[in-house]
Amino acid sequence: MPFPSISLHNSLTNQKETFTPINDGSVQIYACGPTVYDFAHIGNFRTFLMSDLLCRTLKMAGYTVTKVMNITDVGHLTGDDLADADGEDKISKKALREKKDPFEVAKMFEDIFIEDEQKLLIQPPDHRPRATDYISEQLDLCKELMEKGFAYKVNGSVYFRTRKFPAYGKLSNNKLEDLDAGNRVEINTEKEDPLDFALWKGADENHLMQWDFETGEQLKVKSETWESVAQDMRGFPGWHIECSAMSKKLLGEHFDIHTGGEDNMFPHHECEIAQNEASCGHQSVNYWLHGKHLLVDGKKMSKSTGNFYTVRDLFEKGYEGRVIRFALMSAHYRSALNFTTKSLDQAQSSIKRIEEARDIFSNYKGTQETTDWVAAFVTRFQMALYDDLNTADALGAVFELISEGMKQRDSESLATQSASQIVEFLNGEFNAIFEALEDSESIPPEVQSLLDKRAQARADRDWAASDSIREEIQLMGYEVLDEAGGQRVRSI
Ligand code: AMP
Ligand code: ZN
Repeated sequence: MPFPSISLHNSLTNQKETFTPINDGSVQIYACGPTVYDFAHIGNFRTFLMSDLLCRTLKMAGYTVTKVMNITDVGHLTGDDLADADGEDKISKKALREKKDPFEVAKMFEDIFIEDEQKLLIQPPDHRPRATDYISEQLDLCKELMEKGFAYKVNGSVYFRTRKFPAYGKLSNNKLEDLDAGNRVEINTEKEDPLDFALWKGADENHLMQWDFETGEQLKVKSETWESVAQDMRGFPGWHIECSAMSKKLLGEHFDIHTGGEDNMFPHHECEIAQNEASCGHQSVNYWLHGKHLLVDGKKMSKSTGNFYTVRDLFEKGYEGRVIRFALMSAHYRSALNFTTKSLDQAQSSIKRIEEARDIFSNYKGTQETTDWVAAFVTRFQMALYDDLNTADALGAVFELISEGMKQRDSESLATQSASQIVEFLNGEFNAIFEALEDSESIPPEVQSLLDKRAQARADRDWAASDSIREEIQLMGYEVLDEAGGQRVRSI
C-alpha cells in the first residue's frame, strides 16, 4: 500500500511541504524535551502533545516511527533567549535554593515529568537520553568542531565561530548583521566575535555540575580529582551542543523531523543547525516543526513570569488527563491558543457528547441497508491530520459525523451497519489520535437478557412488564433510557 500524502509546515522554508522520509516507510524524530528543574506547565505540554500528535499521525499513515525526546538536566541557563546564553544553570539554581544535590533535583523532576506525560496519555519516546549521560559525545563534537576550525577554546570555554557558518540564521531568519552585540547575543570580551556562542563553558567552584574536558569524567567540586584537574579543563556543556550530540548519536547525522516550541527556533535550533552542519558538512534535519505557545491572558505561559498551570493544578480542580489533552489538542498546533478553565469545561462536554453518541450507536438496531457514507467522514478526519496535523478540522469532521448519524437515527433511516462503522471509527482512528474516550462499558449478559425481554414487552405493548423490568435493571446498577433508536443503558 502506498503511503498517503502528508504535508507539514517546515520552519526552515516557512512553507507547507509534502513530507518525504529519508528511508522508505520509517521516520526519525527528535523532540526537544523538558528542562527538569521544576514541574512542566501545560504550555510545555502543548508542545509535547504536538510531537505526540505528529508520531501518532505518521503511525496512522503506516510509518514506523522512532522518536527521541531528551531530558535537559544540565547547561540550560536562565538567559536562554540569547544565542550565547548567560546566567545561572536552571537546575543548579534550584538545587542551591533547596539545598539539594542538582542530580537529585533533576531526577525528581524527570520522574514527575514522566508521570505527567503518562497522565496526558503521551506515548513515551523510544529513547529518552539525559544530557548528563552523553557528556563524552558532546565533548567529541566540541573537539571535532575545534579541529575543523569552527570552534576555539579560551579560558576553559569553547566557542563556535558563528561567522564561519554563513548559513547561520537560515531557520529563524535572524541575519548575522542584525544580531547586534548586547541585543540577541551576549557581550563577552574573551570571545573573538560577539556573535560566537558557547559550546562548552568553563566552570568555577560555584558551579555544581562540572566535567573534565579531557576525559569527560564528572568532577565533584573540591574533591581530590577536581583539585588535580587544571581549572581551564573544568566545565559544563552548553544547552545547544547537548541536543546536537544526542540526536547525532541516536538518529545519525541526517534525520527527518525535529520539533520544539516556537521559542526554541532561536537561538537553540539555529545553533543546533550550525553545530550539526559544520560537523557533517550537509543538511542534518529535513523538517523543523515548531508549535505556537500556549497563552494565558494573551501572554506566553511561562515559569519565569508565574502565569502558569501545571497538570497537577488542573487535576486538583477535578479535570482528567484526557480532558486536558483534548483541550490542548483541539486547536491547530500553529494557531494561537489562549488557555482558560472554560476551554477545559468545553473539552469535557465535547468528550461526553462523543461518548454518549458512541453508546447510542453501539446499542442501535436500525435498517439492514448497506451504505458507505461513514467512510467519507473517516477520510475527511484523516486528510485533515495529513494536512499539517489540522486537529481542528479533524474534530470538525468527527462532530459532523455524529450529527449526521443522530439525524438519521431520529428519522429512523440509520442502518445498523453505519452505526457500527461510527463506533468502529470512534474507538479506532479517532481514539488512536486523541485518546479521549474511555473503553466503552460492556453490558453484563444478565442485563442484556433483561433488556431483550423488555424490548419484547414493549413490542407487545405490555407497559407494566416493561416498567418492572426497568426497575429490575436499575437494581443491577443500570439506568434504561428509551430513545428514538431503541433502549440504551448507562451505569448509575
Ligand atoms: P523547557 O522545559 O523550558 O526546556 O521547555 C520545554 C518545551 O516547552 C520547549 O520545547 C519550549 O519551546 C516549550 N514551551 C515553553 N513555554 C511554552 C508555552 N507557553 N507554550 C507552548 N510551548 C512552550
Ligand atoms: Zn533541544
